[in-house]
Amino acid sequence: MKRPAFRKPIALLLPSLAVAVAAFASAQDRQTAPDNAGGQHNGKQANEVKLRVMEGYPNRIQARIERRKRSSSRLLPRFIINVSKRWEPGQTVKIAFKGGDDTLHTKIAENVREWTDYANLKFDFGNSGSSGYRTWSPSDTSFKADIRVSFDQPGFFSLVGTDSIDTDVTAPGEESLNLQGFDRRLPSDWKAVSLHEFGHAIGFEHEHQSPVGQCDFRFDDDPGYRPTRDSFDQFIPDSRGRRPGLYTLLGGPPNNWPQAVVDFNLKQLPESHAYDIGPFDKDSIMKYFFESFMFVSGTSSPCFTDSENLVLSSQDKAGAAKVYPKTKADISAASQLRARALEDVSKAKSGHDQ
Ligand SMILES: [Zn+2]
Repeated sequence: MKRPAFRKPIALLLPSLAVAVAAFASAQDRQTAPDNAGGQHNGKQANEVKLRVMEGYPNRIQARIERRKRSSSRLLPRFIINVSKRWEPGQTVKIAFKGGDDTLHTKIAENVREWTDYANLKFDFGNSGSSGYRTWSPSDTSFKADIRVSFDQPGFFSLVGTDSIDTDVTAPGEESLNLQGFDRRLPSDWKAVSLHEFGHAIGFEHEHQSPVGQCDFRFDDDPGYRPTRDSFDQFIPDSRGRRPGLYTLLGGPPNNWPQAVVDFNLKQLPESHAYDIGPFDKDSIMKYFFESFMFVSGTSSPCFTDSENLVLSSQDKAGAAKVYPKTKADISAASQLRARALEDVSKAKSGHDQ
C-alpha cells in the first residue's frame, strides 16, 4: 500500500500554514528516502522544497491489482484488517530478504516481531542455523517465502496479507515488501516504517481509508486555482495563494499519480458487513502523517495528528489479536468471519462484472 509522505515539508510552500512546519519536524527524516533527491537540486533556489515520493506499488504491481479488480468487481470488499487476505491464525509466515546484511536483518526481524506479540502468528526468518537469514532471488521459480523483502525498489510498500503469494499480483522472483535504501542508511523512523509495512503484510489496510474514519482529504483545487509550478515542476499555490488539491498535487512530480491511483490510496473504503474494523484510530501505525493542508478542515480534521505515529497503538494491538486469535473458540469465530468475507468476494466476482 502506498505511503504518503514528503521529502520536504510542503507546508513551507504555504505561508498561511507555516504553523504546520514545526509539527512536521519528526517526519522530516523521511525526506532522506533516496529515490528522488538526486543531483537535480543543483541550480534550484535555496528556498524551494521538494515533495517526497509517496509509498507506492511499482507500476507493474499496481497494474495487476487494477486488472484483478476489473476482472472481479469494483464492489470487491476490502477491509481495514483485510479478513479475506489474512494468514491462518497460528501460521508460521516465512520471510526472506534480498540484499542487506545480518545486522540489518536482525534489526528488522527483532523490530517487526512485535506484531507477533499480539497476533497469533510466527515470523520465521530462517535464521535458526548458522547460514544467516533466508534469502530470495529474482530467479526463483517457486516462493522461497511468504513475505519477500527487498531494499532496491523505489519507495516503501507491501502487498496486503496473502496477496504476497497471489500469482495474480506477484511472482516468486518478485519482492512483496520494499524498504528502499535500508541497506545503505536506516532512516531515523525505520522502526515505524517497517512496522507499518509488516502491518500490511499481515493484512492491515490503511487506517486513513477506514470506512468509519473521517479523513476529509482536500482532493480538489481551491476554487479558481491557476496551475503553478516550482522549478522542480511540482504544483504549488498560485500567486493569489489558492492551493492545488491532492489530485493536482499528487498528479504532478514526483509522484505523477493518475486520479485513480490517488483514489486507490486515499479514498475511504466502502462499508461492508465483512469488515473487521475498530473505531477510527488516528494513532494507528497504519495511518500516515498528513500535513494539515491536505485536509478540508486543516488541523481540525479528525484525521489530523500533529506528529507521525511511530509505535503500535493499543487498537493496532487489539486488532492484530482479534484477527489472529489464540483460543480455539476465537479462531473458529474468526474463521467464520473470514468465510463470510470470502463469500462476499466470490459473490462480487460472479454477480458484477463492471
Ligand atoms: Zn502503507
